[in-house]
Amino acid sequence: MARNTYYRSPHWRALKKATHERDGWRCIVPGCQTPTHRLTCDHIKRRPNVDGPTAYDVMSNTRTLCGNHDALVKETATGKRRQDGKLIVKGARSDGTPLDPNHPWHRAGS
Ligand SMILES: [Zn+2]
Repeated sequence: MARNTYYRSPHWRALKKATHERDGWRCIVPGCQTPTHRLTCDHIKRRPNVDGPTAYDVMSNTRTLCGNHDALVKETATGKRRQDGKLIVKGARSDGTPLDPNHPWHRAGS
């Protein structure tokens, strides 16, 4: 499948920049320490393979990921995401809560 021209368009560049700015120029996975120069703008729901902007090309459907986390859930050739698109957070639940019961976040009153 030929790659469409959307990813070279001003619309995509603006959406990508706005997404990174909203996310503070960091990977959105809690605790991720990957350097910020390896950021990608990920579509949460897959956009159709067309040249022009679509309803999927909006900030509610984009997120900032580092190269490592992007690769973790990247779509395969079949269009299905690896791990069903679930991001692995080491040492934390999927909501970012630390697994360690002694972590300061679990202390009462803190
Ligand atoms: Zn990351």
